[in-house]
Amino acid sequence: MQPKKNIVHLPVYQPGKPIEEVKREFGLTEVTKLASNENPYGCSPKAKEAIQAEMENLSLYPDGGAVVLTNAVAAKFGVAPDQVIFGAGSDEIILMLARAFLSSGDENIMATHTFPQYKHNAEIEGAVTIEVPLVNGKHDLPSMLEKVTERTKIVWICNPNNPTGTIVTHAEVKDFMKKVAPHVLVVLDEAYVEYSTDPEFPDGLQLLKEYPNVILLRTFSKIYGLASLRIGYGIGRSEVIRSINQVREPFNTTRFAQAAALASLEDDEFVASCREANRVGLNYLTSQFDRIGLSYFPANGNFIMVDVGKPAADIFNALLRKGMIVRGGHALDFPTSLRVTVGSQEQNEKFIRDLEEVLSGAAVQA
Ligand SMILES: *Cc1c(COP(=O)(O)O)cnc(C)c1O
Repeated sequence: MQPKKNIVHLPVYQPGKPIEEVKREFGLTEVTKLASNENPYGCSPKAKEAIQAEMENLSLYPDGGAVVLTNAVAAKFGVAPDQVIFGAGSDEIILMLARAFLSSGDENIMATHTFPQYKHNAEIEGAVTIEVPLVNGKHDLPSMLEKVTERTKIVWICNPNNPTGTIVTHAEVKDFMKKVAPHVLVVLDEAYVEYSTDPEFPDGLQLLKEYPNVILLRTFSKIYGLASLRIGYGIGRSEVIRSINQVREPFNTTRFAQAAALASLEDDEFVASCREANRVGLNYLTSQFDRIGLSYFPANGNFIMVDVGKPAADIFNALLRKGMIVRGGHALDFPTSLRVTVGSQEQNEKFIRDLEEVLSGAAVQA
């Protein structure tokens, strides 16, 4: 047997350690996970009710086109239903974009430190990935623009950027769109858009009105708290959405996911309260980092990257022994940083306590 030669070198995705495994390994009863940007407040109670009601329909295939949900998203954002597509998480939209737009030898451009799924899927299609270093943790759009060639099919802009949490502004993206060749599809991955409180955060829907070569990626996994159900969506011009639909599996999102997403979409109060709690949590974390004397990137999502000034793997492991799971920068090519999800106030306080103990502890060598 011989798999495609361009996948042989690809790593299998390594998820963060599950809570149960950490409990067993270190003999702990309490473990806090601030590693996967999950919503500490769960999901809307309306989503749970919708799932209960859907229990009657387990034997039925879902609506492949997610028509009701599509109409609801289209109405909410003032676009036509044929401008919306759903995936099993926005991860699947990324996969479908690569499948629909990238062939062997095509080029795609992204930041050096960004969401790994862009490159992963591009490589599966045999495309050439051009990586452009971040500047102060931020996408360098002018340098990314310089890398565009006739072979460029996609430019990926992760905003806020995972793992750094920084944003590019509306003016910066607009300037990029003005200058980029129209044959290039520009993907604005806005998985954390609902968390952003910066007035300069791009109005993706406005950009979509002005430029046909933009697609927005959004998800129900983050602020909506439905990560387990796997549902996300893309909003673009109908021609782009049609191309993605051509490679989509017929029943790629489940009845549960569609029902829960629909109910969640109507619960603006839940989203607003999570956004506010996240803002308070970020303020708390940054004020504590300031007090301890740690630097961090300006955070716009529900996570923050902080430089702890010591080898990340050591700090990560020491935190793990205390039952605190974060994302170690050693796995993200930020050797002295941690990426921490904003938890509940109680979780954030525990993180700061644990971090200070670990940083002052003799067990960790500088
Ligand atoms: C979490 C995340 C996604 C996708 O999440 P799904 O659960 O697949 O919807 C996409 N992009 C970024 C940057 C993310 O952090």
